[in-house]
Amino acid sequence: MAVRRSRLEQLITRLFDDPESSGFGTGWMSGTAGVFLGGLALAGVVAFSFPGVFTTEAFRAQYPLPFLRALLQTVIGAAFLLSATSLLLRKRKVLGVTGLGLAFAATLAGGAKAAALTDVASPFTVGLDWFALNVLLLAVVFMPLERAFPHRTDVKTFRPGWVTDGTYLMINHLAVQALTFLTLLPATSLARLWQPVWLHDWISAQPVIFQFIEIVIVADVVQYWIHRAYHAVPALWRIHAIHHSSVTLDWLAGPRLHVIETVSMRSLVLVPIFLLGFARPALYGYLVFVSFHAVFIHSNVRFRFGWLDHWLTTPRGHHWHHAVRPVDKNFAVHLPVLDRLFGTQYLPPDEWPPVYGIEGDPVPEGWMAQQVYPFRKR
Ligand SMILES: [Zn+2]
Ligand SMILES: [Zn+2]
Repeated sequence: MAVRRSRLEQLITRLFDDPESSGFGTGWMSGTAGVFLGGLALAGVVAFSFPGVFTTEAFRAQYPLPFLRALLQTVIGAAFLLSATSLLLRKRKVLGVTGLGLAFAATLAGGAKAAALTDVASPFTVGLDWFALNVLLLAVVFMPLERAFPHRTDVKTFRPGWVTDGTYLMINHLAVQALTFLTLLPATSLARLWQPVWLHDWISAQPVIFQFIEIVIVADVVQYWIHRAYHAVPALWRIHAIHHSSVTLDWLAGPRLHVIETVSMRSLVLVPIFLLGFARPALYGYLVFVSFHAVFIHSNVRFRFGWLDHWLTTPRGHHWHHAVRPVDKNFAVHLPVLDRLFGTQYLPPDEWPPVYGIEGDPVPEGWMAQQVYPFRKR
């Protein structure tokens, strides 16, 4: 498989990345972490300063503010410390200076005490809060895991394609308002037409854990068949091919999905869930589970799950879905039993796929190029 970097990624790599000297003690890790945390700190301060524009309306009232301010303070402190460490250790100062610059900017703009500069609440919001919090959480969980227990040891954090995947992650979060609106549209419209109260009462009265399991089953049955259609119908495959264009799998590869697929898949999954009338706590539990699990099954970790491989999709199971060969296996996102049932399971004991991607590598690199790809003339 060709190793390709988009033009933006080449530029960033030239500016910051110096893989020749990225080992422990070179100031590369501290510098990279400093830039990352400095950027997040600045995003946090912007969200605190303009909450009506840069925070998600649905989350705004729920935030534990003292905790978030303490977290912001910690992130700013860590950004200063790590960037300074990198400055001391490293000959090239670009990482350390950038990290310090971001941390200073966050501090000058108010730091952890930043207060709302305006009470204007825009009807259109950018989910900067959602992006900063989720990226921090995912990076803190998955980056150390993938460094400590990698399945493929040659996969670095800034492997080819990371800027493309990072862009997907960013857009999926920043556009959370628009995506949520579109995702809920079919389910809420249908629920207005058909409201079987007796069914809702019966389902929502069950223990939350039962409802959670039922949602996972319902969601994955719908997902399984839509996913199979995305592979079987040529016009749909051109859209889904984006997801399969990753030649490296890690925690960042999961969000690489065409926006049409993101919206259609999520919205169709929600239709039966809304019509059946599950209670909110079960639905929220499912949303938390699915956002973690979707990242996990792409991650580059070598854990062996034994019998669990056959009951809950694990990284090894989903990695086979991304194999160049065999194709069209392991469609289920959560429950491998569906693949067993419908004859599409492929899970040789203890084996991992040798190569990921699509035969012939037809999809271009870069977010924009990939959004246009399904509609380009062949
Ligand atoms: Zn697929
Ligand atoms: Zn995948």
